[in-house]
Order: sequence, then C-alpha cells, then structure tokens
Amino acid sequence: MDLFADEWEYLDNGMANAVFKYVGNNTKYLHRVLRVRLIGQHHQSASYISTAEVFDSIHASFVADRSLCNLREYIVNNNFELIELPTVFTEALTNTFKNHCSINLDERYGMLIDNHLVTNEHTKKTKYSKFLKLFINTTCDSGDFPLMVIEMKPKWLYKDSIDTNYCRNCAYNRMTKKITKKCFCFNELIKFKDSNLKQTLKNMFPISNDSNNDIVVDSTEIAKNILFDYFNYNDKNILNMLSLYQRPTTHNMILNLSEEFMNSENNKQAINDLNLKMTLRDVTVFIKFYRIVDTAGYLLIDLDTSSSSSTYHKAVGHHQIAYKWQNRFYCIEISLVDLDLKDIAGKWRQWKAKESSLVAGDWYNTIDVHYGQPCCVLLPENEAKEAIPTILSG
Ligand SMILES: [Zn+2]
Repeated sequence: MDLFADEWEYLDNGMANAVFKYVGNNTKYLHRVLRVRLIGQHHQSASYISTAEVFDSIHASFVADRSLCNLREYIVNNNFELIELPTVFTEALTNTFKNHCSINLDERYGMLIDNHLVTNEHTKKTKYSKFLKLFINTTCDSGDFPLMVIEMKPKWLYKDSIDTNYCRNCAYNRMTKKITKKCFCFNELIKFKDSNLKQTLKNMFPISNDSNNDIVVDSTEIAKNILFDYFNYNDKNILNMLSLYQRPTTHNMILNLSEEFMNSENNKQAINDLNLKMTLRDVTVFIKFYRIVDTAGYLLIDLDTSSSSSTYHKAVGHHQIAYKWQNRFYCIEISLVDLDLKDIAGKWRQWKAKESSLVAGDWYNTIDVHYGQPCCVLLPENEAKEAIPTILSG
C-alpha cells in the first residue's frame, strides 16, 4: 500500500465530496488531488451515486461519446483516475480530518485528479464571489510572471428568451439574494464584444485598494488582456461550448416535466439528456496562465516568434493556447471538473420548484434598481433602447 493519511492535506469540500492535496514524495501522486465521497443525505439510499459510477459516467458521456467531443480535451486534461482506497487508509483519513468533513467509509474508490491550483503559503487568493476566484502564486519561477489560476462556476450559460431581462443566474441570484449588487454576468463573456467585453473583464477583476503588490496588479492586467483576446476572437471558447450543450430541447425543459413524464419508460433518453445538461450547468472551469520563458524549448506550442502583431495566438488544442502580449509569450490551459452525475430521481422536483418560483415571482423580468443595469445581457441595440424606459416606468 502506498497511500498514507499523513501525506494528504485537506483542501476543501462541497456537499458530496472532499478534496485532499498530496504533500508526500511519491511521484505517482505529486501535483494531484484526491476526491472522496462524504456522508450525506442520500449515502445509504438507492439514489446514492458512488465514485465508480461518477467515474464511469464521465468516461461514457464525455470521453467515449462523440456527441460532446468539443468538451473532451478540457476533461482529459485533468488526467482523472479511479483508485481503490484500502479501508485502513480511509479510516485514517477520516480520523485525521474529522473536524473538516465526514468521509463515507463504505466507499471503496476515490478519484485522482491533477491539482490545478498548486497553492502554498505564498498563494494570494481573491474570492470575488461564490462563483469566481483568482489564485496567484508569486513563488513560481516562470520569469517575472506568476502562475495564475482562475476558478469559475459559470452555472447556466444561456438565455431562453430574448424577451427576458435577466438570465437564469441573475434571476436566481436576485431571488435568493445571493448577489444584491450587479457585478457581472458570465453570459456577458459570451455575448459582449470589443469595448463592452473589456468593461466586463474590468468589472470581473476590480483592482482592490489594499493591493500594493505590483506583481499581482500587473499580472492580473496581463491576464485580462489575454482573456479579452480569448473571448473576443474565439467562437469555440469554453463558455460558448458549454452554453451550446446546456441548452434545453422542448423535451427536457424543466417546467415541462411531470410525474407522468419522469416515470415513462419512453422518456429515458430525454431524462438522461436532461441529467447531462444539469451536470453541465454545475461544472467548474479552471483557466491556468503561465509565462513561456524559453520559446525555443517549447516546441510543442510552435509559436511564430517573428509575428509583430500585439496579440498573436496559436492553439495547440482548444484547451491550450499560446499568446503573445507585448513581445512576451504566455500560455493558457483550460480544464473542466465537477462533472458529477446528478441524482435525477431525487432532484427534478427541486429543479422544477425553483424554476416555478422564478417564473411566478417574475424574477426573469422585474427591474431591480440595486442591481445596477436593468438587464444582464445585451439585447439587440434597438430593442434595448425601447424596452428599458417602458419597463422602468412600469
Ligand atoms: Zn445574467
């Protein structure tokens, strides 16, 4: 056995899983995290989804199935791996970290994933919201540019109708008072171009008054410029792709679901399809930035160093793209995690109830003055000009 509880450090946990970072010397686990299942509401019920089932569903839906092939490389990039956990290890891990979380001792497997955050005591973490975090590790020695990672949870990336003022995220955040002040909406990264997109990126990463670290300020500015290039010119960017696959078809629009529909054998395909869409509406996206110091040694990327344009980019794949910014070379690498299958039998009533509340409260439409702009995503220019005064006076 090569798994020892004292070589793992607690990182974080959600409702269903906890994540541990490897701090030992075994090269097999170096720069990786271990994800284990927690004791939860459903851990002893028939609707419990085990780590092995999560792993199989990721493989079947995102790796083997060609219909989602545009997402495949973002997922394969994690090097996810199923490993059997000896009982003695799980018990030791449970005892060591019992103040942080309650591990499910009945689980036989855990999932190993590459650690995208590479955090240490020199990492500056900025939490802009529950859905957006920035990690800057100023000790990484890729020239004078630190390793930076953006973690985002973009949730629902589409708008059902042009007639609503808000997308599902903005409507939901307003209803639940999760966000009371308008900051930005992930849909803006899909819809906005040019100066509007620049403003969105400014709003996403405001420079805080207490930030007196030049490396942090300068590198955030460079990252914003690279992100501008990525979202402005790349129609196959990760958020566009997620948005495309998340859209419901008439068969799986949540408000259309009924007991009869959910129990019918004939609707198995539509229900599986909905499950996949709900998974895609809850993923985490990591965008890692680093400087390429020795371009000659980085043959994989094969940059055209003679190019004189201010931003020049070259894609290795959709998940890894090199950029030239002010005569320096950078790389961004994008990964998709948290692709857990949903417990559809237990959850669809909750999803439908939330959707009904949003519609009943008119949260997709009513204007909230505290929320800043009267709408979250760009309407066609003429419609926006006409629509906004009418709504405000109403
Ligand atoms: Zn929105």
